[in-house]
Amino acid sequence: MPGPPSRSGSSTARTASGALLLTGHGASRGNALGRARVRLPHALEVAEQRITPAQVPGELQRLHEAVEAARAEMHDLRQRLHGALNQEAGEFLDLHALLLDDPELLFGLDELIRSGPYSAGYALRVQRDRLAKVFDGMDDAYLKSRMDDLDHVIGRIHAFLHKRPPDVKGLAGEILVCDNIAPSELAQLQAHGVVGIVTAAGSALSHSAILARSLHLPLIVNVPNALQKIADGDVLGIDGSTGQITVNPLPLDLRDYRARLREQAREQRELGRLRSKPSRTRDNVTIALLANAESREDVTEAHALGAHGLGLYRTEFLFLQRDELPDEQEQFETYRDAALGMSGRPVTIRTLDLGADKADRTGLTLSNEENPALGLRGIRLSLARPKVADTQLRAILRASAYGKLRILLPMVSTREEIRAVRRRLAKQAELLRAEGHEVAEHIPFGAMIEVPAAAIALESFIDLVDFLSVGTNDLVQYLLAADRNNEAVGELYSPLHPAVLRLLAHILRVGREHDVPVAVCGEIAGDPRMTRLLLALGLTEFSLHPGTLLEVRRAVRDSDLGELQAAAPKLLAARDRRSIERWIESNP
Ligand code: PEP
Ligand code: MG
Repeated sequence: MPGPPSRSGSSTARTASGALLLTGHGASRGNALGRARVRLPHALEVAEQRITPAQVPGELQRLHEAVEAARAEMHDLRQRLHGALNQEAGEFLDLHALLLDDPELLFGLDELIRSGPYSAGYALRVQRDRLAKVFDGMDDAYLKSRMDDLDHVIGRIHAFLHKRPPDVKGLAGEILVCDNIAPSELAQLQAHGVVGIVTAAGSALSHSAILARSLHLPLIVNVPNALQKIADGDVLGIDGSTGQITVNPLPLDLRDYRARLREQAREQRELGRLRSKPSRTRDNVTIALLANAESREDVTEAHALGAHGLGLYRTEFLFLQRDELPDEQEQFETYRDAALGMSGRPVTIRTLDLGADKADRTGLTLSNEENPALGLRGIRLSLARPKVADTQLRAILRASAYGKLRILLPMVSTREEIRAVRRRLAKQAELLRAEGHEVAEHIPFGAMIEVPAAAIALESFIDLVDFLSVGTNDLVQYLLAADRNNEAVGELYSPLHPAVLRLLAHILRVGREHDVPVAVCGEIAGDPRMTRLLLALGLTEFSLHPGTLLEVRRAVRDSDLGELQAAAPKLLAARDRRSIERWIESNP
């Protein structure tokens, strides 16, 4: 199941047949069997790698291109620095740029490649070790510590040396094992045929995990010993539901693996029968199941599964993995296609939620924030970049002529933010109409509730919105002061904290009192283990990834709303997580 995983911690064990079994957190379900491709973070080639004299010119060129790419990267980063850390971070980058230009470093490298003759990677290693000795011999602690900078610079050259296209191409049918993965890498990896990913760090609630689920790419995170225990070329059997990785499976393991695949296929067939069934409880209450979407494929899947609409279209994914911002026309076509793809069902376009772990490459997000999750993200970023915001609003307004679009603002914390966007929207609608575009008469306008202040003071701005959507992924992290991406506080990050449930119940109650519909679009809405709890709290609108829609529909159809709501007071009186878990267990 792809929702928030059990956090039982990671351990090393053996399968019944004796193969090594590693356990992490299943972040995107699905099974995969493939060869491991281990990507070490900035690890330099250790083994001596000699080349033939004929290969020397090619290897020199490879090195020079990598140095050039590292230089361009630093220049690019330097250009984007602004804000408080500009000076400090800038100084480091300047120093790194100086090191890159240091003839001692480069000349030595060329010489090693020629005289070895060595591969560029190994020459880099030898040169690094030589310089390390020099730094080690220095008395001055400050100068000694400069070796870290040199390591960073060498690491970047090395990364570029290994970023060559054949490296990516060779990935077809392989399982990537790496330290961590950025959302921006995932689609490209899948396009090159990667069948699964295992990361040593990371969290099942990160945006990388959300995107992996959207791509149906099995992902297991937080396997601390993955890089030590898995070698390049090992055969891996991974199960993205349980978080288990079998290293070099033996015949018995392969039999188990095939049996699991058959069981999953049977389960999928059974769920498939619910495609055309209503999402109605046993006592005949219809529950709206809308879909979260990040891509065109999600829209198609949502439609096919009979989703009531799109409850959350994450537009920021259009801005990632590219160097230029998407223009108005490209955005318009994307939103229009989402509207058309849902054939008249509501489609909720969330304005840009860049920032924190969704950093783009276009320079829009700040790269130097000390606390990016508390920084310029979501609606704050849009309001700080009014041109970008207006372009997006225009694209949404133009697309509104093609379906039932709704607008949703992320990370709202003040009344003024909503008013500011409403003003911009009205202005752009007026301009577009004057330019001859058709714009819908009324576009429902909503706010995400993911900042505790917005939840607590909901009554102070609810008059400004037509609907609300609770982003529990962020609400939990901000309410409990536990980073959603940091496994070190994974035990604390739990939607089953009594404070979370009470706040959810409060939001739902205020929504009801003001006749403003409230949905939940965080990952808990897509976790069938949480369905009854959410129904008990009074939720009647879920927005979830299409991948789990049928499982949640099954849970809804197996529930009796009246019974669950009668059991809600006990749930809300719970004093700890264990009591809430017991409530869930006793209301299966
Ligand atoms: C959330 O925070 O719950 C949410 C749906 O938004 P995102 O996961 O994109 O931050
Ligand atoms: Mg959020």
